[in-house]
Amino acid sequence: MSCNSGTCQSSCYKDEYSVTDQPPATANYERSNDASLRGGDSNGQNLCIKCKVNETMAATHSAAAAAGGDIGRFCADCFRNNLFGKFRFAVTSNAMITPSDKVLVAFSGGSSSRVALQFVHEMQQKAQKNFDASRDRSLPVFGVGVAYINESIIFPAASNDLNQAVNDMELIVSSLAPPEKQFFVVPTQNIYSPDCAVGKNQLTELVAAVSDATGKEDLLEHLRMLSLQKIASENGYTKIVLGTCTSRIASHVLEATVKGQGFSLAADIQYVDARWETPVVLPLRDCLSEELNTLCSLDSLKTIEVLQQPRSGINGLISSFVQLLQKDNPSRESTILRTAGKLTPFHFNRIPEDGHDNGHSASQRRQRKYNLKPNESLPPKSFCFICNSPLKKSSNTSLDGFENGGTSAGLYTAACSSCQYQILPKDPSSLEYFYSLLPKSMADLENDSRNNHNISVLLDLAQKMQWPAAGSRIKGD
Ligand SMILES: [Zn+2]
Ligand SMILES: [Zn+2]
Repeated sequence: MSCNSGTCQSSCYKDEYSVTDQPPATANYERSNDASLRGGDSNGQNLCIKCKVNETMAATHSAAAAAGGDIGRFCADCFRNNLFGKFRFAVTSNAMITPSDKVLVAFSGGSSSRVALQFVHEMQQKAQKNFDASRDRSLPVFGVGVAYINESIIFPAASNDLNQAVNDMELIVSSLAPPEKQFFVVPTQNIYSPDCAVGKNQLTELVAAVSDATGKEDLLEHLRMLSLQKIASENGYTKIVLGTCTSRIASHVLEATVKGQGFSLAADIQYVDARWETPVVLPLRDCLSEELNTLCSLDSLKTIEVLQQPRSGINGLISSFVQLLQKDNPSRESTILRTAGKLTPFHFNRIPEDGHDNGHSASQRRQRKYNLKPNESLPPKSFCFICNSPLKKSSNTSLDGFENGGTSAGLYTAACSSCQYQILPKDPSSLEYFYSLLPKSMADLENDSRNNHNISVLLDLAQKMQWPAAGSRIKGD
C-alpha cells in the first residue's frame, strides 16, 4: 500500500468494489461493471457505460474498437481509471507495496510490463507529492527500480537491435522521473558469476542440454526469475513486480494442467508469491492483455517489440488456443482465471507477516474476507529444485509410466513431474553433467529440498530405474 492511497483513496476504492462472497477481486470487479454494462446498453448511444457523458472509445479510437469486448464501451478517461483502479485495488488489498518497500519492476519491453512500470510510477509519484505536502513527513516514499534481463546469449539479436532496445528502455525509465529509478540491464549468465565468460559457457551448455522446446522455454523462465531474485537481493529490493496479466495466467493455467502441474498450480496464480527470498507480486492479475495493449496505444506508451520471443512447444500451442477462445468470447480468460482461483493457495501466497509496517493488516483483512485458507500442511522446503514448484509429498501417483517406480520415490522429491519430463535429461548418465551446469541457486534449492539426500543418491536412483520414454512428449518447433 502506498502512503498516499493508504488513507482516503484506498478505502473509498475498497468500498466501491467490495461485493462480498466473491473470492478474487476480479469477480468483484466484473460484477460491479456488469450492472453498469446493462445501463450502458439501454442508453442506445455511443456513450461511455461508466460516466454516461463522454463518447466511447469505440467511436473515438480505432485501436479500442478493434480490441473488442467491453474495452470500446468506456470513454478513454474511464477506461484508464478503470484499469488503474484494478491495479491499485490489487496492490492495496494485498499489501503489495508499503511505504518502506523498494520494489523492482521486471521490464521486458512488452505492453504488460510497460503498464506495470507506468502504474507503479504513477503510484510512486503520488506518494512523493503527498510526502512533499505533508508537514511531518512521517511516511517515506517507496523506492522503484527497473530490471531488464538480457537473454541475447540464448536469443541472439542483432547487436544494433539490442543496443537500440536498451537505449529505448533507458529513455523510458529516465522519463519516469522524478522520483528517479535505478535501471538494471543484466545478462542471464550473471546468475553464475559476475565474470561473464564463465557464466556464458555454462549457460549455453545448460540450455543446449535440454532438447525439448517446451522444457527449454520453461527453464529460461525459471532462470529469469533467478536473475530477478539476484538483482533484488544484491540491491536491497523488497518486492519484485511482474506484469503478469489475466491472459498470461489463463494460458499458464492450461499449460500447467497439461504438464501435470495441477498440485502446484495454485501457487503461481495468486497476487502474491512469497516462496522466493524476495516476494513476487502480480498487480495486473485482473487486467486483460487487450486492455494493456489498448492503454499502451492510447497513451503512446512505448513498447519494445524487437526483443519479444514467440512462445514455443506446449506453451505456444496453448497461448494460441487461449487467444482463439478469447476471440470467441471476451470473458474466457477471466473465467479460466476465476475457475483456477478456486484452488486453495499455499501459505506463501501472502506477504509474510513479520511486519513492522501496517501493510500486512490489509492482507489479513482480505484473507478473512475471502476466507482464503492457505494450505498449511506443506513443509516449506519441499520445492522442485528446478522450477521451485511446491511438491506433493506422497508422489506415488506421479510415477505412472515409470517402471520400478516404487523404488525411485527419492528421485521424485527433488523435481516436479513437469521438470522430470521436459527438462531433466532422459539419459541417467548425463544427469550428473546436467546438474553440474545448474546455477548455484538451483543447486541450493535441491540441497534444501532433499535435506539429507545428496546428489549421489539421486544419481544412484536414476541409474537403478528406467528413465521415462519420450513418447508422450510434444516436440516443439
Ligand atoms: Zn466515461
Ligand atoms: Zn519443476
